[in-house]
Amino acid sequence: MSHLAVDPVEIARGTRLPSATVGMIGAGQLARMTHQAAIALNIELRVLTDDLNAPAVRGGATPVLGSYADPRDLEALAAGCDVVTFDHELAEPQLLAELSRHVTVRPSPRAKQLAQDKLHARETLSQAGFRVPSFAPVDSSTDIDAFAERHGWPVVIKARRGGYDGRGVWITGDTREAARIWQSASAAGRELVVESFVDIRCELAVLVARRPSGDSVTYPVMETRQQDAICREVIAPAAIPVDRADEARRLAVSIADGVDVAGLLAVELFLTGEGLVVNELALRPHNCGHLTIDACPTSQFEQHLRAILDWPLGDTGMLAPAAAMVNVLGPSDGSDPAT
Ligand code: ADP
Repeated sequence: MSHLAVDPVEIARGTRLPSATVGMIGAGQLARMTHQAAIALNIELRVLTDDLNAPAVRGGATPVLGSYADPRDLEALAAGCDVVTFDHELAEPQLLAELSRHVTVRPSPRAKQLAQDKLHARETLSQAGFRVPSFAPVDSSTDIDAFAERHGWPVVIKARRGGYDGRGVWITGDTREAARIWQSASAAGRELVVESFVDIRCELAVLVARRPSGDSVTYPVMETRQQDAICREVIAPAAIPVDRADEARRLAVSIADGVDVAGLLAVELFLTGEGLVVNELALRPHNCGHLTIDACPTSQFEQHLRAILDWPLGDTGMLAPAAAMVNVLGPSDGSDPAT
């Protein structure tokens, strides 16, 4: 927050024109926290949403009313923006590719696909030589049985698209349950991928911010503790040997370089007895990185804005020897149990 090139008093009075205008597809909690960072950088953040009660709109970001599935609404968001970026993974790659012909979209639609399709991500990363769990596409329930015969039960079945917080991840140890999972997924029109169950010692995440020029920075490696496939606790830095942490940071940077990411990339890793295995990628601020708001000089949200605008990246050191975050989930109806 200390790197402003403009007079904060002018910004506060509203007399200063925005230093940049950023469009964000989506207006959820990540967009809301990005808006918080945008204010200090004098960036105008416009968010595309069909809900005027969306978290980022309630937090003061400028709404553009519309849907991420409608090309005209995407164009309306892009009009006047220096760059368009994302709060979620839901927009169709083809629509994004079309949009990127008229406006700079960062990360690029091609890179973004790695966070949109788990099979595509597994194929791309394994072809590039990164270690991922054994996997196979699923066209029928017999594909799951055939995979389990080769690799053993249990297996992990995942929806290729649209999953989060474990919604779309099923761990099963038998053929009947696997067939049931396949049937209900295919009835819902969801494509699946199957992978080996990994014996995980702990789960890690590395946040990398990368500019289009290729400059990048990483945050200290974080340990993420899951319960029912939802991240419940984050600890930074992870209590792992320094050389392992350095290896994780180098691995994350080489993925960011390999897929030519512009913006923030979160690399989720499994630490196993045989070393680091890549789980998944998120090409946006990540829920493990919220603690960077208080624990680091530059939050992941500020860093994402800097990276997509090709501005100098900020300091990713820690302001305290260690930091932790607990994810407290409220009821699904959105009410506040404390009131
Ligand atoms: P989501 O996109 O819903 O977060 P993930 O692919 O990250 O789904 O999986 C959610 C959690 O499920 C992981 O954090 C991990 O705890 C567990 N998990 C995922 N894949 C495997 C695997 N191959 N082996 C063992 N556990 C896994």
